[in-house]
Amino acid sequence: MFLYFDNAATTPVRPEAAQAALEAMTRGWGNPSSVYSFGAQAAAQVKQWRANVAGALGCLPEELSFTSCGTESDNWAIQAALELNRRKGRHIVTTAIEHAAVLEPCRALERQGYEVTYLQPDRQGHISLSALEAALRPDTVLVSMMLVNNELGSVLPVAQAAQAIRRSGCPALLHCDAVQGFLKLPFTPGALGVDLLSISGHKIHAPKGVGALYIRKGLKLPPLIRGGGQEGGLRSGTEATAQLAAFAAAARLGAESLNAGLAHMAALRREAARLLPERVPGLKILSPEDGAPHILAVTMPGYKSEVVVRFLSDRGIFLSSGSACHRGRPSHVFAALKLPKAELDGALRISFSYDTPSDSLPELAQALSAAHDALFPSLS
Ligand code: PLP
Repeated sequence: MFLYFDNAATTPVRPEAAQAALEAMTRGWGNPSSVYSFGAQAAAQVKQWRANVAGALGCLPEELSFTSCGTESDNWAIQAALELNRRKGRHIVTTAIEHAAVLEPCRALERQGYEVTYLQPDRQGHISLSALEAALRPDTVLVSMMLVNNELGSVLPVAQAAQAIRRSGCPALLHCDAVQGFLKLPFTPGALGVDLLSISGHKIHAPKGVGALYIRKGLKLPPLIRGGGQEGGLRSGTEATAQLAAFAAAARLGAESLNAGLAHMAALRREAARLLPERVPGLKILSPEDGAPHILAVTMPGYKSEVVVRFLSDRGIFLSSGSACHRGRPSHVFAALKLPKAELDGALRISFSYDTPSDSLPELAQALSAAHDALFPSLS
């Protein structure tokens, strides 16, 4: 048995999603492009799965294109927005705390001559609207702002950003990486006012290898992959029906029990924020109080977080020393907070899900307190 507190890295596939994938592979395994009835049935299924995910996200099915992951959705959105606005300018605004799936494409674009403004966070990972307003220019063609930061859980002002872009009159399209926001906050792309929005299956209890890009109705994106014309001609390639079936099941069930899931995660986060500083000497909370319900970043100043993570792992408790996507490198998110070095080194991310056991926190507190006692002498 183990205790899993790393749901921002990935989540276990829920049984209903695994079952849906199995059925797609063993019963309805036709090619959705085949004209005979077995293929037509598969095409009908894909239509249903798209409607399920769109329903959970709160958009029209035709506004949703399936992809292979959140990273692909982010890369596609950025490339496509720049292509659409190629005659209007070469300035991009994003934040210093985006996921690498946004930051790396931006860095590559800088090498191609684009200018990128990286908005800096405050000590708790908030991004200020006035900084965004000041950054917008007549040649700003893309704003990419995540909804929930994956390491801190801070919620970024995406809806306000949409209004600011409109007020400014600049031609920027607004992309939102909502990989950590989908089914963790109640929102719809329409209410946010975004043009493009990325989500990923494996953060919501679907398997790895599936994601989606919301493309606002009326926005005509250039194709990402040319070929047989699947996904409305935008992303060719035979549909990954097993992944889509599972994504649809996970999204539908997650949306149906959204309020209960959010309340459960919020209660765990509140309790962790109370219990851990009480039980673990020196432990400090890094996440903002108004953050998303599933992520709590803390620090044990003076400790090396990787050593603490290994100590807990040996005891069957899994959490992260930062984003799993940055293995071995100091987190750019915690670095952007400009924390003192001891706090930066000791940063840990605890992340919850609807299936995190309610009674699991005392064991976590006990293990962190044991890490405090066992590890400090070797570091002092
Ligand atoms: N964006 C954010 C905020 C994430 O947390 C992640 C994954 O950690 C991604 C994008 C990448 O998603 P995927 O793993 O589906 O490529």
